[in-house]
Amino acid sequence: MNAQPFRNAIRQSIEAGSFLYTLEYVPDVRDGTGRKGIDHLEREAELVGRDPRIGGVNIGDRVSRLDTLDTVECGAIAATASGKMPLLHLAGKDRKPEEAIRVLQRAHSLGLTNYLLITGDRVIKPPNQERTRYHESVIAIQDAKKIDPGCLAAAVVSPFKYREEELANQYLKMVKKINAGANYLVTNCGWDMQKFQELIWYREARALRVPILANLLMPPLGWAKSINAGRLPGVHLSDDLLEIIVGESKLGKTEFERLSVRRLALQIVGLKLMGYAGVHLSGIETHELLRHTIEVADELEQKLPTSADWKAAWAEAHLLPDRRPAMFGPRSGLYLFGDEQPLPASFNEFPTIVGVTASEQELRKTRVLDTIDRALFDDDSVGAAVLKPVFSALNRIPLGERALLNLEKAIKQPILGCETCGFCRIPYVEYICPETCPKGLANGPCSGTDDNVCEFKDRECIHNRKYRIAKSTNRLSDLETIVIPAVTGTRMTSSWVNKYQHLTPAVLRISKAKQADSKSLTKANTTDGATVSTAVAAVGAHVSSDEVD
Ligand code: SF4
Repeated sequence: MNAQPFRNAIRQSIEAGSFLYTLEYVPDVRDGTGRKGIDHLEREAELVGRDPRIGGVNIGDRVSRLDTLDTVECGAIAATASGKMPLLHLAGKDRKPEEAIRVLQRAHSLGLTNYLLITGDRVIKPPNQERTRYHESVIAIQDAKKIDPGCLAAAVVSPFKYREEELANQYLKMVKKINAGANYLVTNCGWDMQKFQELIWYREARALRVPILANLLMPPLGWAKSINAGRLPGVHLSDDLLEIIVGESKLGKTEFERLSVRRLALQIVGLKLMGYAGVHLSGIETHELLRHTIEVADELEQKLPTSADWKAAWAEAHLLPDRRPAMFGPRSGLYLFGDEQPLPASFNEFPTIVGVTASEQELRKTRVLDTIDRALFDDDSVGAAVLKPVFSALNRIPLGERALLNLEKAIKQPILGCETCGFCRIPYVEYICPETCPKGLANGPCSGTDDNVCEFKDRECIHNRKYRIAKSTNRLSDLETIVIPAVTGTRMTSSWVNKYQHLTPAVLRISKAKQADSKSLTKANTTDGATVSTAVAAVGAHVSSDEVD
């Protein structure tokens, strides 16, 4: 199929500052022709094409399973049926870097240029015995911009984290994604409106010029229970909210559905007042239900014109049976701000939170490893002068090559968890091997943490330690600006030899994306289309980089 020009209503909406709605489509499991799922997609996409309020179809990528209909193919079908450019979610899970690039190239060749680039959640049933690889979202954003600098790249951020390390890591990685070229952000789904507000205020305090969309979910009772039990990675549904939803479910199907739509509509109204640029509504897969939700939100918007009106209505809708207001986060959860908006542009860098610090043991290990690394691998070090010719000579003979690899593994695996990736990234990640993250992420965490614990539930998220060390050594800004490339073609080779022979990819420090004062930012997300257009162009266009070493 040749590239076709599709009207990019999603881009137009973001650039014009008009509130964006899209219709979600989660590709079916591929069985036979997958005709049933495709029929549904075509039918709904046609309705989206005729509805000026809806920007396009947003299409998930291998949600919860790997054997689903192809997202790019579904995108082409949605584009043809609606005449509107869809938004493709492209996940790095179970994709090596070169495979992820091929998917982007295929989408681009079909004229599909709206992407939401994510790492993806845990692969529950790996297709083979090999370790499942995950291509990082930060690198995917760079890949997309290399293939087509004009593409519209979105990235995910989750404000729904309640411990310092996991929350700070989300915001640090968010800025890295903007620095890497993300044009706009989409949140994880959540119900904690104070956290939605925190993200907007954080953006304003950092003077970041980037539109943000919220992801909202309308869960049936079973889902609500399962999310509350922690079965949807990184998504928090509090005990109080579950109690309210359970109570609503006892009022009968029709009333339960009415109250569920009303909650979603109330969230939409609140988010509009905060300055969100639109919503992704997860779990709403028909045009009819989406249109109905928009109508309910419009009616509520008329009745609740101010933030104070909205807050009162939200609180009233979330009273527990004993008239206590529901809590949406954990009782001792961390919020960066109180009820008051912080001063505009009050900090240029990540605000240092008075809280956790690295332990003496964590710091000592980092110092020792850093000293060894510099002594052996700095270009002008004695270690490099002695070892480089010896290692290079050894590496030229197969026996020597194997011996070097085994030696490296024997030394580094017990200390660091080394998996002989051939491109040692530890100096850029506070000497914590990214291979000890089950997804192998070097550029910051996924959003699957819960209470600081990894999505895989078997360890503390490795990026927490990195954060504590960077904070204690005043290097937090590195976590926003240093982009560590993917490992390609070096696995099972000696990183020592690769380093001496300059065979590893360059690690870059990306200069900060252009920032603006918060006044123009506020304008950018309300009425001034031209300002948004400039903002969208500015982010991504003003990225320049220097090699770190
Ligand atoms: S260690 Fe952190 S980034 Fe890695 S999979 Fe676990 S939660 Fe995600």
